[in-house]
Amino acid sequence: MYKNLIGGEWVHGTRTSRNINPSDTGDLVGEFAQADASQARQAIEAASVAQKSWAQSTPQQRFDILDMAGTEILARKLELGDLLAREEGKTLPEAIGEVTRAAHIFKFFAGETLRTSGDLVPSVRLGVNVEVTREPVGVVGLITPWNFPIAIPAWKLAPALAFGNAVVLKPAELVPGSAWALADILQRAGLPPGVLNLVMGRGSEVGQVLLEDERVNAISFTGSVDTGRRVARACVERMAKFQLEMGGKNPMVVLDDADLDVAVGAAINSAFFSTGQRCTASSRFIVTERIHDRFVSAMADRMSGLKVDDARTSGTDIGPVVDERQLSQDQAYINIGKAEGARLVAGGETIATSSHGKPGFYLQPTLFADTTASMRINREEIFGPVASVVKVRSYEEALAMANDTEFGLSAGIATTSLKHATHFKRNSQAGMVMVNLPTAGVDYHVPFGGRKGSSYGPREQGRYASEFYTTVKTAYTQA
Ligand code: ADP
Repeated sequence: MYKNLIGGEWVHGTRTSRNINPSDTGDLVGEFAQADASQARQAIEAASVAQKSWAQSTPQQRFDILDMAGTEILARKLELGDLLAREEGKTLPEAIGEVTRAAHIFKFFAGETLRTSGDLVPSVRLGVNVEVTREPVGVVGLITPWNFPIAIPAWKLAPALAFGNAVVLKPAELVPGSAWALADILQRAGLPPGVLNLVMGRGSEVGQVLLEDERVNAISFTGSVDTGRRVARACVERMAKFQLEMGGKNPMVVLDDADLDVAVGAAINSAFFSTGQRCTASSRFIVTERIHDRFVSAMADRMSGLKVDDARTSGTDIGPVVDERQLSQDQAYINIGKAEGARLVAGGETIATSSHGKPGFYLQPTLFADTTASMRINREEIFGPVASVVKVRSYEEALAMANDTEFGLSAGIATTSLKHATHFKRNSQAGMVMVNLPTAGVDYHVPFGGRKGSSYGPREQGRYASEFYTTVKTAYTQA
């Protein structure tokens, strides 16, 4: 039984939840304590008390804890990667990569504790000095999704702690194991009791308390658009700071002059790796007419060689979908695509068992062609290994279509033209633009985030993370 962490104590919940392996639904990863609303309030109280002295800790104290956590995560990357692949379903190499990323994020923010600085500015008034400094926000509620079970908690926790905030973390119900491991590692690395609290439980219960409790000064949320709106409404109501990362419908433009191998490699990765369950995944390939047929047939060719299997089996390219609910959503969109008149080029079928005969939520990578921009499969986020191709006449038409979406997280272009690459970088209405690269796969020391319906508030990651996790003070002194 894995317990919640409240005020430095590991405590039982009011219920338990079973963490199931999507590659083998008979495999129980573990039983996890579920907090209720009153335990969530206790966690918030513990954080409010602990935050006051944590804000007074030295950068060296915070550096040592974050650095030690990063070191332990790195040393245990194979074991933690195995746990992540087992509870979420991404392949073992992807999972180990994600764990490694989490470790690097802790190391980066360990360094940031020492680099926090302010400005000393001459005043417009004689004899007055102005100091601009950054202070912690206070108690921060972190609400995380299931698709990056360790990296997303890490990229919220590390800056929150580095800048002197106390935290209540509510991980996604489907993947509590990686978040639990992170809390255990940070606690043993020397965090004072109450600085980090872990409350596993339902979004509508535990998450909702975080949104409404006056003692929570800020909320960082990653998840669905619907829940994001709920977070925004609740935070505006009580004037709490908030930051949202939500969906995407990320385009990848492929121009006639693209290197076909580069384009197809980037497209396969964007659409299907991590089972298409990345908010930066591409699900819309916008392809100019002279390369279109070659692109579609090369995609079909590459897709026929992709191995869908148990996430932890060597050689697996695509693991299972995370759960039954997500699988039915993916299947529903495949049916919608067919009904809308899209041509199914590859995939489309579920697979009942792994190569070991174990039941899991397996789905073939799926590609539609002959689609139009107005089809629902080209407008709504599916969040599975399902993508479609739209044929266009020109770069200008491709750019307009790429931007014609309510989202704006990531956008890609495959081209050998410097002119078009440069124009696309400047004119894409996305927060992140990729040239001859997959739309997913980002660095951790630079800002992450989108525009329009994809994101709200300051960027996450890298040095930009301080915008959210600190508040600015301007102090005036008459010498
Ligand atoms: P998904 O559909 O990808 O699971 P959600 O937005 O439902 O995305 O979940 C993202 C996170 O938000 C999860 O940790 C979930 O428990 C949490 N959540 C869901 N509903 C609420 C809510 N009403 N208040 C706060 N958090 C919530």
